[in-house]
Amino acid sequence: MKLKRRIFLKTALVMASILTLSKILPNDKVLELAAEEAKKMLQGEEEPIHIVWVHSQSCSGDSVALLNATDPSILDVLLGQFKNIGEVTLDFHQTLSPQWGVDVVRGEKGDIAKEWDAVEILEKAKSGEISPMLLVLEGAFPDESKAGEGYWSSIGSLNGEPIKATEWLTEAAQYAEAVVAVGTCAAFGGIPAGAPNPTGARGVYDVLGRDFRSKAGLPVINIPGCPAAGDWQTKTFAHLLLTVKNLLPAPELDEYFRPVFLYRNTVHERCGRGIWYSSGKFSSEYSQPYCMYELGCKGPIVHCPITAIPFIEGVGICTEYGSVCIGCTDPRFPDSPLSPFLKALPAPTMPIDLAAGIAAAIGAVLGASITYKARKAKKESKVEEVSE
Ligand code: SF4
Ligand code: SF4
Repeated sequence: MKLKRRIFLKTALVMASILTLSKILPNDKVLELAAEEAKKMLQGEEEPIHIVWVHSQSCSGDSVALLNATDPSILDVLLGQFKNIGEVTLDFHQTLSPQWGVDVVRGEKGDIAKEWDAVEILEKAKSGEISPMLLVLEGAFPDESKAGEGYWSSIGSLNGEPIKATEWLTEAAQYAEAVVAVGTCAAFGGIPAGAPNPTGARGVYDVLGRDFRSKAGLPVINIPGCPAAGDWQTKTFAHLLLTVKNLLPAPELDEYFRPVFLYRNTVHERCGRGIWYSSGKFSSEYSQPYCMYELGCKGPIVHCPITAIPFIEGVGICTEYGSVCIGCTDPRFPDSPLSPFLKALPAPTMPIDLAAGIAAAIGAVLGASITYKARKAKKESKVEEVSE
């Protein structure tokens, strides 16, 4: 059987996505998915899925992080493989989109220039003409009722007039198979929503409503982080692409609609400095290698994938490289209790004997839960014993 290049690339790409998921699925399920998907692709049955990625109140940090994804890599998109293989196309992204401006095709009779109308793509997405569509939002969405006679944020235009971002989002979302909020701003409002929040910035699920469901029956999927690491993004996309194709059940989500396979653990539960927390040794300045609780680390109250999936190719974990966790994946970021960033969380006041008794009773489940104060008190009493 002759295998066309297009089919080969498509097979390799989807296999890479499935293998990525092998870290969260048993091997036999992965092999079953791989066989099913390969069969469909060789028979040419599947339809392309269109990604439309728009920004509102954003710094584009999540797009930059996306460029650093390696497992799988965004290079597959930039090299045209997603588009050319016909399975997944990146139809719109304001900085990465291939369909933007003028495309020059070199032919035997000279160059042919073809104009692409990016605004037309946005209009089609808003009116349901792009299907099936994965809608990705980056940045917060403002409350335009606070904008007076102007507006805060727009996406596309109609008859030369800008369309307000919240209006565009509300219309486009109803046609999307899945809606993904990338980064803390799109998920929860993030920095634009920090007190006093003059623009009324919000996350996508507060614009569409927590009970919103996409065409595939999914709520807004949140991938928070400031920025969300590229691999957190591509792993979620890989899962959702297979969900939209009915090859995988929807990812389990937590109460803030974050995928549990990424956001299950707190930073503290897997922190490399945890041993120092357990033994009650705390850094008092940044050059020291001990637990940074006293320097303001919010790791004990923040759920984040960073300790399992660091920022780039296994490298880059905030607390292990000397920075306190400032809680950037948390819905409350950047306000209290995550800020002031360099101020320690209030220490619990549980007496040491009670804390030790509870920890012994529920050991493995809450093994790390002997409180900060109890740990420190225990260590200090030992130091006193030795000095006597
Ligand atoms: S408090 Fe912060 S630095 Fe200390 S162990 Fe927990 S996460 Fe790591
Ligand atoms: S460890 Fe804290 S500051 Fe670092 S990415 Fe995770 S939530 Fe953000």
